[in-house]
Amino acid sequence: MATEQSYIMIKPDGVQRGLVGEIIKRFEQRGYTLRALKLQSVERAQAEKHYADLSSKPFFPALVDYIISGPVVAMVWEGKGVVATGRKIIGATNPLASEPGTIRGDFAIEVGRNVIHGSDTVENAQKEIALWFGESLVDWTPAAKPWIYE
Ligand code: UDP
Ligand code: MG
Repeated sequence: MATEQSYIMIKPDGVQRGLVGEIIKRFEQRGYTLRALKLQSVERAQAEKHYADLSSKPFFPALVDYIISGPVVAMVWEGKGVVATGRKIIGATNPLASEPGTIRGDFAIEVGRNVIHGSDTVENAQKEIALWFGESLVDWTPAAKPWIYE
């Protein structure tokens, strides 16, 4: 059975504010496995596809402008429960409602500058990974695996 994967993306504000290392650290130290990582500029069409489910929302144009405003760090993280746990590590959509200790709760104030994206379901994670990485994940087994999983 394939292990669960989540698409995690540091948004342009997170990159500009120098939070890349801090964010990667939180997923890494929890025990999740990095399967893909790239810094990239985002085409408008790609941002619109990624957020297609929100295209009817009033904030959609500003959201797309935000996501294409600078480079993002696109990642795939793998491990048991990584989609739901990743959302907990990230915190609530509106940073004012995010608990301290979460990424948004520690580093953000406004919903339109909330630093990071994480897939909300396993099914959406698979779609997002296909959109951002195609098939190009790195297959490797971390040496620490038996020290993280029983
Ligand atoms: N967003 C916004 N205004 C809103 C709701 C969402 O600008 O009222 C932005 C915000 O950056 C959010 C993204 O749209 O992260 C996607 O919204 P979603 O509801 O999927 O939140 P997420 O899954 O990122 O927590
Ligand atoms: Mg979402």
